[in-house]
Amino acid sequence: MTSPWMTPELDTFRDAVRRFVAHEVVPHQQRWREQRHVDRALWNKAGELGLLLADVPDDFGGSGGTFAHQAVVFEELALAGDTAFGLHVHAIVAHYLLHHGTEDQKYKYLPRLASGDMIAAIAMSEPGAGSDLKGIRTTAVRTDRGYRLNGSKTFISNGYLADLILVVAKTDPAAGAKGISLMLLETRDNPGFRVGRILEKMGQKGQDTCELFFDDAAVPLANVLGGVEGQGFAQLMAELPYERTIVGVAGVACIERALELTVTHAKERRAFGQALIDMQNTRFVLAECKTEATVARAFIDRCIEDLIAGRMDTVRASMAKYWITDLQCKIVDQCLQLFGGYGYMLEYPITQMYLDARVQRIYGGANEIMKEIIARSL
Ligand SMILES: Cc1cc2nc3c(=O)[nH]c(=O)nc-3n(C[C@H](O)[C@H](O)[C@H](O)COP(=O)(O)OP(=O)(O)OC[C@H]3O[C@@H](n4cnc5c(N)ncnc54)[C@H](O)[C@@H]3O)c2cc1C
Repeated sequence: MTSPWMTPELDTFRDAVRRFVAHEVVPHQQRWREQRHVDRALWNKAGELGLLLADVPDDFGGSGGTFAHQAVVFEELALAGDTAFGLHVHAIVAHYLLHHGTEDQKYKYLPRLASGDMIAAIAMSEPGAGSDLKGIRTTAVRTDRGYRLNGSKTFISNGYLADLILVVAKTDPAAGAKGISLMLLETRDNPGFRVGRILEKMGQKGQDTCELFFDDAAVPLANVLGGVEGQGFAQLMAELPYERTIVGVAGVACIERALELTVTHAKERRAFGQALIDMQNTRFVLAECKTEATVARAFIDRCIEDLIAGRMDTVRASMAKYWITDLQCKIVDQCLQLFGGYGYMLEYPITQMYLDARVQRIYGGANEIMKEIIARSL
């Protein structure tokens, strides 16, 4: 079933993205898992094709499409089993700039993010504060020569390769949420900035998730997002629908991939003189999964349409993030069971999907936080 937001132009775009992913991503996946990060060249190649900021206006170097274009890119990456290319956080940072940056900030950074000359990361989480962001300890102190950042962050996607990091910091520690600002930190030639370990994860091993350290790291006075201190918390809240819808988009594509792989396997694999697909348990499990996948697709398609139309809200984005990622983990687990022993072997894509899926319920705001947000709206 074709999504209602797809158009002939998006079909052509999807073909181009699929070819790019087949040539530039899939052949390198195992090597990226081993080196724990993608090649920098991938970013420049994706930039040349206009895939990095597909839904950012061309005035700022983007491809001038809508969220539909960006969703196509996320879907195609997920359908190819990619979790290494940190395009999600890159696109998120671009949207912070687009919606909250000063004109100077937009013209300075968005074209470089679109071309892949700069890779972006967003650094909120700290060793002592993740869900409860008001508890962060990183500070940005204003001096005559700019801000000085001190503190540390952890679990930061793209942390090893990032050239531009949107750092959540306290500019006024006594002011609670109103003392939080988002600082645009350039990492190149910044002696106060240091990348720690690339963290050892259970899945998504090709993604460079890192610790970061700031020891009087320099940020120019002009690099407070939006030019005014104290706006950080409101800016974070405003961008949540985009971030959480993206997680849901990838989640549904993963569900669809898991089902496709499993149906193929169940038709080929034989036991007790028949194909697995001919056994009633297999048929019922797959029928249930297919039904849930179809419901999830209808919901995410509606979310995508609403995001394109500027109607997406935080509560529904939280529903999409929590419900789809819970479902993703459940369906991938049920599919893996139908692979028997092969489902436990890393060379099988379903095994990789199982390991990669688990974090979807944790990052982007833990699913319990999503339920809190939904419950508050009741
Ligand atoms: C692979 C990976 C990539 C990541 N990428 C980034 C990134 O790029 N940038 C970034 O800033 N962060 C990133 N994170 C961090 C991620 O966003 C946090 O791990 C997540 O928000 C949870 O925070 P925490 O780990 O501190 O858990 P905690 O806040 O300690 O929470 C632990 C658990 O407690 C429960 N809990 C917490 N609060 C509540 C509540 N109010 N009600 C009910 N239950 C609650 C939940 O079950 C939660 O999972 C990444 C994490 C991972 C694992």
